[in-house]
Amino acid sequence: MKSLKWMKYSTLFLFYSVIMLTLGTRVYQPKNVLADPLPIQPDSPVKNIILFIGDGMGIPQLSAGKFKLVGAHGRLNVERMPSTGLLYTHSKDKLNTDSAAGATALSTGFKTRNGMLAMLPDHTRVQTIIQAAQEKALATGIVATASLTHATPAAFMLNYPSRRWDYHIAPHVISSNVQVMLGGGRQYFLPESLPEGKRKDDRHLVKDAIRNGYTYVDNRTDMAKVKRGKLLGLFQTDGFYNAPEEPSLQEMTEKAIEILSQNENGFILMVEGSQIDWAAHNNDFDHVIREMKTFDDAIGAALDFAMADGNTLVVATADHETGGMGITGGKLSGDDMKVQWITNKHTCHPVPIFAFGPHSDKFVGVNDNTIVPKIMASLLGFPDFPRMLNE
Ligand SMILES: [Zn+2]
Repeated sequence: MKSLKWMKYSTLFLFYSVIMLTLGTRVYQPKNVLADPLPIQPDSPVKNIILFIGDGMGIPQLSAGKFKLVGAHGRLNVERMPSTGLLYTHSKDKLNTDSAAGATALSTGFKTRNGMLAMLPDHTRVQTIIQAAQEKALATGIVATASLTHATPAAFMLNYPSRRWDYHIAPHVISSNVQVMLGGGRQYFLPESLPEGKRKDDRHLVKDAIRNGYTYVDNRTDMAKVKRGKLLGLFQTDGFYNAPEEPSLQEMTEKAIEILSQNENGFILMVEGSQIDWAAHNNDFDHVIREMKTFDDAIGAALDFAMADGNTLVVATADHETGGMGITGGKLSGDDMKVQWITNKHTCHPVPIFAFGPHSDKFVGVNDNTIVPKIMASLLGFPDFPRMLNE
């Protein structure tokens, strides 16, 4: 009788131990066990380039995203890329860059003053890597969760002296003729006679785009139906805010790749995780993590494409760090993280750069951010880049 009871209790105890061990070990296991590092690729020709810019994504935002999303032993998609380096981000005359000068360096290979879009301080226009790609008949795409008129997307598509004039920038977005443009900012493209429009000149830029051959969509369901051609998607009146009609950054990235990869000459796509910066300006830790997830999911989709393709280079970097975020403690699982911020502005720290695909090793080392488009141009065989456009 006694031994039976003992057996019952010991079985229960064993059962309990197994459960607790399983639960216990789960805490210390990487949450993202499948994400192995990707191998260095053979040096085959580069046909396509996908450039990811995490606006405001310094090493702290990246590490916070890693700890919180996959734990200290896990690996984000961005961390699977085998070639890594650091980029210094200063603008033409200031240690701390804004997103316009930062994106100009990354798009044109030139430093400029804060606030200027693909234009030198003396107003000389400088060619963007997207414009160079258009000259060579590559397909081009821009994806962002901010307005398409915002500093980073704008500095890849057009040349303009100030980022502050969204209404003046919007017509340049349309005339840029970039094949796939997906983001926010409807209010800057629609006349004020329409409920969402705020254009005082009453121009209807969406109609202009349609006249230029674009399919226009304003929600994720309609975006999913478009399979080819020129595509303009404006999914929010300004920046995205996780509304149901918005596609995710990953869905936009996948759609852009689906359409652009139909071009036999190859393509260049720039994808911006626009709001890591906004979250960090607000010193909002939880929002930084959500934006890092959004950004990293999109990178995962691009890596899947690049792995299958073999001639696609994926590069991920940032324009600057925002907030002077510091992680001072927490559990390996990413729980109970302690974070401090030193500012609600940008800092001057170098940012990480990651690359996967043929010739990814070109980005290794400590460099200036202006090398990024120069390497891209040389790999794609654009001989006269970087280049000033005014005579
Ligand atoms: Zn910012």
